[in-house]
Amino acid sequence: MQASDVIAKKRDGGELSGEEIEFFIQGYTQGAIPDYQAAAWLMAVYIHGMSDRETHDLTLAMAHSGHMLDLKDVAPFTVDKHSTGGVGDKVSLVVAPLIAACGVSIGKMTGRGLGFSGGTVDKLESIPGYRADLSETEFKAQLKEIGIVLTGQSGELAPADRKLYSLRDVTATVESIPLIVSSIMSKKMAAGADAIVLDVKTGSGAFMKTLEDAETLAEAMVRLGKQAGQKVVALISDMNQPLGWAVGNALEVREAINMLHEGGPADFHEHCMVVAAELLMLADKASDTNAALTLALETLASGAAWHKFMEMVEAQGGDLRYIEEPERLPHARLIEPVPAPRSGYLAGLNAAEVGMTVVDLGGGRKQKTNSIDHSVGVIVHYKVGDLVQRDTPLFTIHANDEDRLVAARERLLAAHTFSDSPVHRQPLFYRRVAS
Ligand code: URA
Repeated sequence: MQASDVIAKKRDGGELSGEEIEFFIQGYTQGAIPDYQAAAWLMAVYIHGMSDRETHDLTLAMAHSGHMLDLKDVAPFTVDKHSTGGVGDKVSLVVAPLIAACGVSIGKMTGRGLGFSGGTVDKLESIPGYRADLSETEFKAQLKEIGIVLTGQSGELAPADRKLYSLRDVTATVESIPLIVSSIMSKKMAAGADAIVLDVKTGSGAFMKTLEDAETLAEAMVRLGKQAGQKVVALISDMNQPLGWAVGNALEVREAINMLHEGGPADFHEHCMVVAAELLMLADKASDTNAALTLALETLASGAAWHKFMEMVEAQGGDLRYIEEPERLPHARLIEPVPAPRSGYLAGLNAAEVGMTVVDLGGGRKQKTNSIDHSVGVIVHYKVGDLVQRDTPLFTIHANDEDRLVAARERLLAAHTFSDSPVHRQPLFYRRVAS
């Protein structure tokens, strides 16, 4: 079999066999197929899509490209949560320690930024010393010891996804349902969780721009999880505006730390509580939504979630001084509040534009090998539906370069739209899809 034949078949709209998919994924993982061929294949998949059967075979091939973790010897029941990617989405930083503090083990392999969407690993690496490269042995030992792990994709688990993920990021092949399904579910299968909550985003700052596409994605992932014997719930949530106020790595860690002390934006708070409640129900810690929400709120209020976060940061080598005094986290040289150009109701705040602005400021990658600046980002001060007064700060830019700051100011001003009459607030969640 030749890689170019597999590429050509997909380019011409054909359906790949399980053997062809397996050949391609194994070849790419082991280095026999180079990036340029994988990039061409990704673009062919992006353009022609995949049947359910192909997506299933691709997911299994990617999951089996490395070790499959068996967590039964370290925890009888483990959960996981995964977002399909958004702007200002720092939910895992709060929800993972919260549910671990309720006695539910969570071992999560989490990603880097992808296009305009931020990545939990990049955020956590704002904390000096934090290791996001745990080996499988370290992953299991820490899960057993403290019931929580937030690490990057190890070379051992789903290595095919690790390689494909960074290649997709720079080849405009992210927004593809089969590629997202296989990327997420291969990691989830390899990481061995018994139950998973998927946060499927839809809107301008999501890879699925329409609710219909988000539903297709959610249903495909729930189906695959079920076939693999996992309990899976998908929540379809809004990403037309950033979640919370902060966008940018260290700024988001600060906002998450604030939330772990019960401070911060209402939308972020509600989002965390809903996701945590779903996980608590899957783990049988609560029999219904109300009981689960009460448990989540109490755990946050008691400080137990914050202590679990500290335990995790310490276990993964992070310097606790930076989270105990978050003002020590990397901060930008130039901080500029930008006044609102007019009064009115905020009618729109294009999340993808905010995300791309942060990438342009240096907070994300444009090429695979780019390093990122953890200190830069944006704080938005209003949510859609809020009444804005002219000349009050509309957003604040954190930058390290004058030219980039000027460009960010223009782009962000254009990302905000106004209305003279009241505007409906955007819902946080649209639908729940369960197996
Ligand atoms: N998150 C992932 O892990 N993979 C994707 O493809 C998109 C979001």
